[in-house]
Amino acid sequence: MEKLEQVYEGKAKKVYRTEDPELVIVSYKDDATAFNGAKRGTIVGKGVVNNQMTNRLMARLEKAGIPTHFVQELSDRDTLVKRVDIVPLEVIIRNLSAGHFASRYGVEEGIVFDAPTIEFSYKCDELDDPLLNAYHALALKLATQEEIDTIKRLSFAVNDVLKAFWAECGVTLVDFKLEFGRLRDGTIVLADEISPDTCRLWDAKTHEKLDKDRFRRDMGGVEDAYAEAMKRLLAHSEG
Ligand code: UDP
Repeated sequence: MEKLEQVYEGKAKKVYRTEDPELVIVSYKDDATAFNGAKRGTIVGKGVVNNQMTNRLMARLEKAGIPTHFVQELSDRDTLVKRVDIVPLEVIIRNLSAGHFASRYGVEEGIVFDAPTIEFSYKCDELDDPLLNAYHALALKLATQEEIDTIKRLSFAVNDVLKAFWAECGVTLVDFKLEFGRLRDGTIVLADEISPDTCRLWDAKTHEKLDKDRFRRDMGGVEDAYAEAMKRLLAHSEG
């Protein structure tokens, strides 16, 4: 399957049409942004890590019965996926306090929750992705009640699978962001990416950060952290 014309360029990925109207090719870039585009930079090799990590994790989720958009990895940076209409909700699951949870509620990072939390934000750059609840999402007609129920159920199922897998790799899955899409027949599937750009990954013992917080917080060692997360994942993957 070949790339035809580009149909979209986001902050971290480009999307190309293919000869099949129901399939598109995503191409991962090394461009990094944070704080809704206010901070920009390059993380060398990030596109390759994010492409390969996303695909391996999505394949694992499919095996566990969670439908995703993933079809086939084409190259280091390019992957064939099912075309979806993205539901304009960012779903955030948290297992430990960090980031905005810690700052919003005035608590330290690293508190282990008894049960994971879920929150939604409205995917809208102009509004800075405002936090909203399911009632707001319904009022704004971003999704139906049935879709929201499905998205919640799938998100917690993703957490169960990924938390256990990362634990095997010696990594604590602190929190992450998911996006879902609708196939042409309306089926909700997991879309976008699952990578150090969208997850907080901490070394289970030292709590060293292996994710984009190193870029957001100017901590240095960003490339090495992405490479280390990928190395841990590959060491615990069968193929
Ligand atoms: N996240 C993301 N995209 C966003 C906002 C958050 O991928 O636009 C991820 C982030 O990497 C972290 C989780 O979602 O793993 C929770 O992020 P938080 O709400 O704490 O916001 P942040 O501090 O990352 O802006």
